[in-house]
Amino acid sequence: MFVDSHAHIDGDEYDTDREEVLERAREAGVCAILNVGTGDPHSGTLERAVEVAEKYEDVYAAVGVHPHDARLFDDEAARRIQRLIEQSARIIAWGEIGLDYHYDNSPRDVQREVFAQQLRLAREAGLPVIIHTREADDETVNILRDEWKDVEQGGVMHCFSGSRAMMESVVALGFMISFAGTITFKKADDLREVARHVPLERLLVETDCPFLTPVPFRGRRNEPARVVEVARGLAELHGVTTDEMGRLTSENFARFFGLDALPEKGATTSTNTL
Ligand SMILES: [Zn+2]
Ligand SMILES: [Zn+2]
Repeated sequence: MFVDSHAHIDGDEYDTDREEVLERAREAGVCAILNVGTGDPHSGTLERAVEVAEKYEDVYAAVGVHPHDARLFDDEAARRIQRLIEQSARIIAWGEIGLDYHYDNSPRDVQREVFAQQLRLAREAGLPVIIHTREADDETVNILRDEWKDVEQGGVMHCFSGSRAMMESVVALGFMISFAGTITFKKADDLREVARHVPLERLLVETDCPFLTPVPFRGRRNEPARVVEVARGLAELHGVTTDEMGRLTSENFARFFGLDALPEKGATTSTNTL
């Protein structure tokens, strides 16, 4: 049993074979996928992400404005997200939000302001947050300390790539730590060393597909079935079997998001429509 805690399966990359991709995931033992809506919040892309979650019983959704698109965030974008949350019980998180100083697709001051604003809105909405942070460890932790201290619903640091100190700071703030295929990469010894020290009850696994395809499938489009390779990498570091790591991270996911039970493996199309 595995849960892909962060995927982008609503994208064009899967328009021709989404059903088969989901079927392969189920065959690999993936019982739930958190599909994260990103992109221009005015373009309909967040609605598209929610539609996929409404359609499949084993797919949940998160919506938010990615730091890349922070310059596109405004009141109308906030209202669209709030409306979606009211309409769909499939939305279980606000995200991904945060800071990305690697690409700097939006000015840094705008990223910081929009990150803080969305933390406040998520808090009001009573939803946990999914954090994306790249090359901005200290500022991310500072903003979380200001805006997300003692917030009951907590959050997830997705595709974790930070230092051990960063990991310890966010664990102290109550965050879950999600690892992606990067943990299987040859040059990721430092990251593996950090992963080894994350408390078991805080671990999650993800693909971040279509990106970050794990070893030994690098160079190809990624998909949720590959989350098994991430669990395998993490299992080796913690001295447990891949199946045990899958079960453990699935239980962590269900507990953290307050889901009574995960859908049975092999769940099919749900009857809900948005
Ligand atoms: Zn991300
Ligand atoms: Zn993502």
